[in-house]
Amino acid sequence: MKKYVIKCGKMVDGTGKKAVYNTFVVVQNQRIVRVSNDIRDLGTDLQIVDASNCTVIPGLIDAHKHVMNCGGSGMGVGLDYRQIKTNIAEMAKGGVTSVLDLGSANIIPTVERILGSDTKIFNAISILTCKGGYPQEYMPRKFYRMGAVVECETKNDIEKAIKKLYNKGVAAIKTAIVSRTFDGKPQKNWTQRQLKCLTDTAHGYGLNVCAHITYVDDYEMAADCGVDSVHHAAFDGVVEQRVQEKMIQNNIIFVPTVSLGSLIIRGLRGKWIYQDWYQPAINQKIRMNMENFTEAYFNAKPEEPIEGFFINVTKRELENVVNIQFENIKRYVELGGEIAMGTDSALGFSLHNTPVEEIRLLNAAGLTFEETIRASTLKSAKVFVNGDLEKDITKIDDINMVIIDGQIVHRRN
Ligand SMILES: [Zn+2]
Repeated sequence: MKKYVIKCGKMVDGTGKKAVYNTFVVVQNQRIVRVSNDIRDLGTDLQIVDASNCTVIPGLIDAHKHVMNCGGSGMGVGLDYRQIKTNIAEMAKGGVTSVLDLGSANIIPTVERILGSDTKIFNAISILTCKGGYPQEYMPRKFYRMGAVVECETKNDIEKAIKKLYNKGVAAIKTAIVSRTFDGKPQKNWTQRQLKCLTDTAHGYGLNVCAHITYVDDYEMAADCGVDSVHHAAFDGVVEQRVQEKMIQNNIIFVPTVSLGSLIIRGLRGKWIYQDWYQPAINQKIRMNMENFTEAYFNAKPEEPIEGFFINVTKRELENVVNIQFENIKRYVELGGEIAMGTDSALGFSLHNTPVEEIRLLNAAGLTFEETIRASTLKSAKVFVNGDLEKDITKIDDINMVIIDGQIVHRRN
């Protein structure tokens, strides 16, 4: 199809503007060339893609994903080539046409090349961290050897690591600012000087810096040291208003990834894995792991950690995660901060086709529906695309494919 027209029931364009009704989107040579509300303007003999009963939105961009994780309680459970291929296919079904993969080691460029994909994958390959820093407490050393984590100490280490990633074609640099372990012990963390060196070097290559943060106390360091986006909402308390204001002043995009915790809890409490309606695209090994995880959850006492879960938090803490995270998002929205959609899938019951849960939660936290779509397109692109996308949206208005109800009805040829 060289030229076709999408007949839209309701259309939201991703800029945050109000939805419009009964419009026609004209696509020619894979680009949107026109939006009209009168079909008589568009000539005759048109190929129509009928979406008149749908809300038409741009392809979603997930700003925080792990293509090679897949459900259950731990890292790398049940992963094989077929499952990775399934994961990638699932993303398009969920309407996600681009993702930023924040940690799938050296193997991710190969996966992209070999598997091909309807969804565009941008990646960061490694987490750059200080010597002995996060995620040493739970990440097996074999993943370090695969390039999932690179530890740096000196200025030279940092510059070398970033140059290497730049040469591999990463879309962004991922780091971690974490001053405690999950069970509350002190954790080696960057010094201000090291982190500043990292952000300056990355910016020198035109790369944005995405920082994983777990705890309330660590957000200020991100704001002080030139980080571009902060990933995960704190779950040990609400970030002080003064710190949130500083983040906003420094144009930090907040990627709360709140659906991960929410789906873990909902999936466990509802025993989803045993329900007939729950038919996730996972292999037998992951399915068994999810069953064991569910059993362990119901067997654990409130003050005990859940057996086999990859991090060491008590059941009570885990159950409370979503409420505190939600409060953090609400405050950031109220203060006028920028939010982007990222699902942090896949772990627990957050799989690769579930951006809807994150969007629903962002909506509940105070974004309008139109703003949630902007957070899932324009704002999530800003996490890894350098430059003023708000002024120049032409960088991202290509059409890769058209998806209706999880079916790809047209793809770029
Ligand atoms: Zn993550």
